[in-house]
Parts: sequence; structure tokens; C-alpha cells
Amino acid sequence: MVEADASWRDESLGARVRVALWLRDEVGEGGVFSKASMREAIKGTEQVDRRMRDLRPAGWAILTYRDKPSLQPDQLYLEKIGLPVWRAEHRAAGLRQISAKTRRYVYERDGHMCRRCGISAAEQYADEPGTHARLTLGHVNPHISGGGANAEDLITECARCNETVKHLTGVQMTKEQVWDRMKELPVQGKRQLLAWVKTDFRPLSPAEKVWGMYRQLPAAVREGLEDDLEALMRS
Ligand SMILES: [Zn+2]
Repeated sequence: MVEADASWRDESLGARVRVALWLRDEVGEGGVFSKASMREAIKGTEQVDRRMRDLRPAGWAILTYRDKPSLQPDQLYLEKIGLPVWRAEHRAAGLRQISAKTRRYVYERDGHMCRRCGISAAEQYADEPGTHARLTLGHVNPHISGGGANAEDLITECARCNETVKHLTGVQMTKEQVWDRMKELPVQGKRQLLAWVKTDFRPLSPAEKVWGMYRQLPAAVREGLEDDLEALMRS
């Protein structure tokens, strides 16, 4: 059993537990730290990002400069220490599995499309030819603690968006860059974007929904549908 006085230096402990202990002892609630300093402390833990993310569903709140503008891009802020995962009874906290039924439901509800960029299963990224999207489930709000395993907490994402969204400091664009692109949109585009921003939701059009279903079919089965649709439109 791992007791409350366990140390992050104890290499026999799991990486998630060591990360939690390091945050508790070396950072503390309200403390600022860098991912590099954590990686330096807990050597051999390649995926400190992943371990930190794993703490979120256990009630830990770790904010990036996107959530907290006073931070530098390489800084993180430990807002809240969640469940003491170093205790045996909390070891598995937040690591709840998503049931197969929930998984199916969420994919179906989201039209088998990434809700962040709109790509469908196995579709090629326009800006990355040769790379095909793989769908996965992410949390609606990955930066807030307590992401659950219920359908309403989950969202269909492609693996690329999933990584971008969850990644603590790997931000590709600045606010100014996004704002420049926003300003360039035609009025109709601005209006549409504003509606999505307000609801934090981009609804799929009927054609997009069917596109998502179509992309779910094996390629060999898909083939005939092109001819069928063309024939239908000619008739
Ligand atoms: Zn995506």
C-alpha cells in the first residue's frame, strides 16, 4: 500500500503516482512549474504529459497559458490537487474505462467525424497527404478537471486533434494568428463562426452526417455508392 508520505523519488511507484507526488511536494497548489523541470526530476518517464493528463479525471487541475494568460508558454500552473492517487484506494481514480456501448453511442452521435476538424475515419488530411485520420474519443473539456467517462463528457476526435487539444504546451498558433484568420472571413463565415463559438459546438450539415456514415463503410462497399448517387442525380 502506498502511504501519504510516499516520495516521488521512489522509483518503484507508477509514473502517474510519482508525477502526482512531485506536484504535491515540489510545486503545491497555486504553484507554477515547467514540464522540463518535471521531466528532469522524474527521469525515465517519457510521457509526463500523458501522466499529467491522467490526473485530470482524478480532480487535478493543471492549467496552461491558454487557460491562464499570465503564464509563459512553457509554464504550467497547478490550480488544484485532486484525489490522492498515491493512496491505494485512489490509485485507479479517474482511470475509468469507457464502455463499448458509450463508445459506440458517441461515435454514432458525432457522425463518425472528428468534432474538432471535421475529418472522417481514414480520410486523408488535406495539409498532410498520405496521413489518414484515425478516430478516437476525447474529453469535451480536456483542460478542466473531472472529465468523466459518460457520453456527455466525451467527443469524437481524430488522433491528431486529440493530441493537439490535450497536449499541454504544444500550441501551433497564437491568438493573434487565429484572430487574423477570423478577420479575413467573409461576413457569412464570421456569422457562422460566431454561432459555433457562442455554443462551443459546430453542428454537422445533413450531407456531412451522411459523409461520416459513408466513410465508415469499407472501401469495396463504398465504391458502388458513387455510381448510385450519380445515377440518382441524373434521373
Ligand atoms: Zn480532427
